[in-house]
Amino acid sequence: MPALSRAETPMPAFLDGRPKKLLIGGRWRAAASGRTFPSIDPSTGEVIAELAEAGAEDADRAVAAARAAFEGPWRRVTPHERQSLLWAFADAVQEHYEELRLLEAVDMGLPVGRRRSGPRPAWEAEVLRYFAGWPTKIHGQTIPNSIPGPDPGSVLSYTLKEPVGVVAAIVPWNRPISNAIWKLGPALAAGCTVVLKPAEEASLVALRLGELLAGSGLPDGVVNIVTGHGEGVGAALTEHPGVDKVAFTGSTETARRIVRASAGNLKRLSLELGGKSPDVVFADADLSRAVPGAAMGVFYNAGQVCCAGTRIYVERPVYDEFVAGISEFAAKLKVGDSLAPETRIGPLVSAAQLERVTGYLDLGSAEGARTTAGGARIETGELANGYFVAPTVLADVRDDMRVAREEIFGPVACVLPFDSLEEVVARSNDTDYGLAGGVWTRDVGKAHRMARELRAGTVWVNSMLLMDPAVPFGGYKMSGWGREMGEHSLDEYLNVKSVWIDTT
Ligand code: NAD
Repeated sequence: MPALSRAETPMPAFLDGRPKKLLIGGRWRAAASGRTFPSIDPSTGEVIAELAEAGAEDADRAVAAARAAFEGPWRRVTPHERQSLLWAFADAVQEHYEELRLLEAVDMGLPVGRRRSGPRPAWEAEVLRYFAGWPTKIHGQTIPNSIPGPDPGSVLSYTLKEPVGVVAAIVPWNRPISNAIWKLGPALAAGCTVVLKPAEEASLVALRLGELLAGSGLPDGVVNIVTGHGEGVGAALTEHPGVDKVAFTGSTETARRIVRASAGNLKRLSLELGGKSPDVVFADADLSRAVPGAAMGVFYNAGQVCCAGTRIYVERPVYDEFVAGISEFAAKLKVGDSLAPETRIGPLVSAAQLERVTGYLDLGSAEGARTTAGGARIETGELANGYFVAPTVLADVRDDMRVAREEIFGPVACVLPFDSLEEVVARSNDTDYGLAGGVWTRDVGKAHRMARELRAGTVWVNSMLLMDPAVPFGGYKMSGWGREMGEHSLDEYLNVKSVWIDTT
């Protein structure tokens, strides 16, 4: 792909200036209130689209449409047909991937060049194909029972796996294509219907996916999409008696609200939440890999990654060398417009996120951390109107500092020295979160021991942020309930029914 400037980059026809609508029961309609809200490009601060602001009435309509599809046409679709529909959707996502990437770049700031050159350039299509393989393989078991009688075995017991029903999928903004597809894949494979609520900061990708879904032959009402605010349509969905399950990704704080709101009909919940993941660099590690690996483990997507390795513990003999290395790496990272092909780090998603992250930079200094790279908003030249923060390294951080305990969700690495394995295990696990952890070492025994000791849903050794559709991902402790991807994720969308048949 030749290097194009922002002005030369052809924008998707989807950004045609017309207000975007809600997808309900296969039709695109304005919000019942008629209200809209703007979507802003974080590289420029400019409005790129107006979105329908759904409220409780729209939530009612969307849930009713999802219920009608669940009880009606979707129920009659065979597993084989569900597989074909998911394949067709995957093909559409792959075919339109460049457009989706561009929408993601202008809506939330993920650099388009970085996405194009990554090792798996259309990986959400892969995720969908993985889930397309499942509908024909979801099955129960025949289970021997011990019911007494003259002919043991004449009472048959077996299980069926059935879809949970109507799912409200509420997602954040940090990777819009993945955020939506990680929910749609398993929900549709399991036979559920969905009301998808994307984040107010970045809804365009979800809306375009809605068009692609309709074009893939999915029956009307199987997937409905409502845009709007968390406290509005989001809260209405979590309280709604017609919703059987909430599949949520977002902050731990919002998850608490959702747990309370869902109590009315005791909805099934899966929660993929925040983190403050440790990344442990032992003195025997290959620093030529550990430095860039740990750096991208925290700076990727401007640090707006739930499983970012934000607390980097470094064994004392290599501490100074590591701090110098990661600081030099951070200073050289190309920060820029999300549409510029050479950009590695784009803007933060919004003015609010910018304020939050720069607040933590000031706090880190006030708490006594030593800033060895970055440390401020970038306010010069072409980046002045966007929400850019320089990749920042805070060295000599202590465990009790707020910057070491709270999720910042920005390009901020906290580096802390340690002296022994036992000590670093205790310090790594001294957190409310448990989403992920990283380990850098050449010692295979140490690697396995750390993998066992870290209280987290994922541990990466000599790598960071690796993901695969077949491998489960999710958190311990306050990082969540349930798993996404892999076989485990399907169980989140299924009920188990036991059937007894007395054949005597
Ligand atoms: P958020 O919790 O503010 O919002 C997430 C979604 O919830 C949005 O769609 C929002 O509109 C909605 N929402 C907000 N209040 C609601 C309410 N009262 N009822 C129902 N819905 C409501 O989170 P965010 O700022 O968009 O995203 C950042 C957070 O997401 C971080 O904490 C990050 O770690 C987490 N995250 C986790 C994962 C994971 O897989 N574990 C992945 C990405 C992001």
